[in-house]
Amino acid sequence: MDHPSQPTNIARDALKWLTQRKLPPTPDNYRRAYAAVSGEEEKSAPWPEAIRTLLGQWDIRHVGLPQAKKREMVERVLINFGNQPSDLHEKITALARSWAETPTSRKVMEGEEELPEQEGEVPAEGAVVVPTVGSEAMSSELTQAMVDSIKVFAAGCEALWPDLAKRAQLLAQEVESTQLSQAGQQINELGRLWREFIIRAEDNVELLDGLRRVVALLFRNVGDMFADDPWIRRQIETVHAVVGDSLNYRSIFDAERTLEEVVNRQKALQISLREAKTRLKGLISTFVDRVGELTETTGEQHERIQIYADKIAAADDLGELNEVMEGLTAEMGRMRDQMRETHGELLDARQHVEQAEGRIRELESDLQEAANLVREDQLTSALNRRGMEEAMERELARSERMTAPLSLALLDIDHFKKINDSYGHQAGDQALIHLSKVTKQLLRPTDSLGRWGGEEFLIMLPNTDLTEAERVMQRLQRELTKTFFLHNNERILITFSAGVTQRQPGEERDVWISRADKAMYRAKAMGRNRVERG
Ligand code: GH3
Ligand code: MG
Ligand code: MG
Repeated sequence: MDHPSQPTNIARDALKWLTQRKLPPTPDNYRRAYAAVSGEEEKSAPWPEAIRTLLGQWDIRHVGLPQAKKREMVERVLINFGNQPSDLHEKITALARSWAETPTSRKVMEGEEELPEQEGEVPAEGAVVVPTVGSEAMSSELTQAMVDSIKVFAAGCEALWPDLAKRAQLLAQEVESTQLSQAGQQINELGRLWREFIIRAEDNVELLDGLRRVVALLFRNVGDMFADDPWIRRQIETVHAVVGDSLNYRSIFDAERTLEEVVNRQKALQISLREAKTRLKGLISTFVDRVGELTETTGEQHERIQIYADKIAAADDLGELNEVMEGLTAEMGRMRDQMRETHGELLDARQHVEQAEGRIRELESDLQEAANLVREDQLTSALNRRGMEEAMERELARSERMTAPLSLALLDIDHFKKINDSYGHQAGDQALIHLSKVTKQLLRPTDSLGRWGGEEFLIMLPNTDLTEAERVMQRLQRELTKTFFLHNNERILITFSAGVTQRQPGEERDVWISRADKAMYRAKAMGRNRVERG
């Protein structure tokens, strides 16, 4: 293209350029027209950018565009526009753009996976990055893979956790039916599902371990009871060995078989035990009879001796006295035999009593030990303080490990003293039971409810952030207005004030609880029956 050099000619041609293109003569348009006519545009054409884009697209493998074809397309542009730098720039840029809009296959020439680089927004740290431009083929493969994995996940959860399975099925449907560009939220939901799954799976392992401990304890006690039966002892030792090690299906089946044998044997033993008890009862009543007889006999003997004493007093001759003495000696012999027999029975009885006392002491110490193991509040069946502390330690470690949010709520019943004063302490107890029941029904299986003090409860919510925790507590408030506490057919509304907090990374347990506590007191101060964030 020839360019006029005279400014007046350039100005005239620029106006012509605008008219031909039907563009209004605004300052910007006029500047463009002037540059085009004078040839300045050629100098300022952004060639480095055009070449960089072209090279970038050259390396990417596009569907239906082998490099030979690309070379041919470039050659054609060079032949047709090689002499017109301005048009050439435009054509090369358009060519690179058209390649960029062609779907890509997975691999680049060097055999490495690569996505075309994207310009524009830099994703926020931690956000899910989703490829969108020029990657439809890959995105459909990715989507399918994701849907398949979620379906497998759902099937795996079906038996144990149908609620998780349902959530996963819904997610799979959503992923299948929506654009990849909306996948960010879905990937986040998948992350939440996975964490929930891990928490539940870990809880199951702990549950098994707890079960193993209970069975071991049970068998230790049963073993003590039948310590003198070698067969039972051997069976129990077998079961002990099985549950003492780490459990697997085979060892459980073995234990089940052994247990069945034990149960059958126990039935037989129970019958002999009943017989033994009946015999023992017989023995005791005989013993009582004997003691009774003894007192009777001593009474009779006393009378007989009295007779002998009278005879001695009235005896006139030695022969008569001799006869009395013989009678008396025989009487004394009988008395001695009876005394010896009674003495033996008394010794036996004392031994039995001592044994029983020993057993009672043992049982008392076992009971104490069992009480130390208790983690549940007897009244409400919520965790007691010890149980809750243990649960918190466990969840703290887990949330650190999984970098999952962990929230806590501390609730205190409002004006609880009034309930006690108006309806009695027992009604107050029932109100506490009612609150625990309603709360437990509303919480997820992985959440924990603990009785922290008299009418104060802690609720721990794993994998839950502050906003969601606040929502859970508000839901509980609403639930209590629907599910009334009934006392003598009177509906009593229980309200509470609560503080909710999300645990900060690395925060100590007690600091965390105290934040919830302060928030709870704020809720009280602000008029009660409300939930405050801490
Ligand atoms: P508010 O928390 O709204 O300030 O008032 P409140 O009346 O609930 O406050 P406060 O903490 O002073 O009273 C709690 C009462 O709870 C005192 C105590 O007698 C009663 N309480 C504690 N444990 C039990 C329990 O196990 N059973 C019953 N029935 N009452 C209990
Ligand atoms: Mg209180
Ligand atoms: Mg209270």
